[in-house]
Amino acid sequence: MADTCTHLTEVEPVSPSSDGCEDCLRIGGQWVHLRMCQTCGHVGCCDNSPNRHATAHFHETAHPLIRSFEPGEDWWWCYVDELAFEVPGAAPALSHP
Ligand SMILES: [Zn+2]
Ligand SMILES: [Zn+2]
Ligand SMILES: [Zn+2]
Repeated sequence: MADTCTHLTEVEPVSPSSDGCEDCLRIGGQWVHLRMCQTCGHVGCCDNSPNRHATAHFHETAHPLIRSFEPGEDWWWCYVDELAFEVPGAAPALSHP
């Protein structure tokens, strides 16, 4: 585990792909919380959700960074470094229905 995430320099501002977990919406699944990939904007569900699509997305694509897509939550998570952190100056999480 690293002390700092080295992947943050690689991310560009991205737009969320969906208002909900795009994989759950496709299969009619349900989610608990949403996470957004900071490489491509994929919106997936958290590890408390039955289908864990955010983590599945990392395993499929190796996109390392997600952030919370929940209103009022500013934390990021790097799967590769297994590190949670906040990014000073980053826009707050977008609200969604
Ligand atoms: Zn990292
Ligand atoms: Zn999902
Ligand atoms: Zn991605």
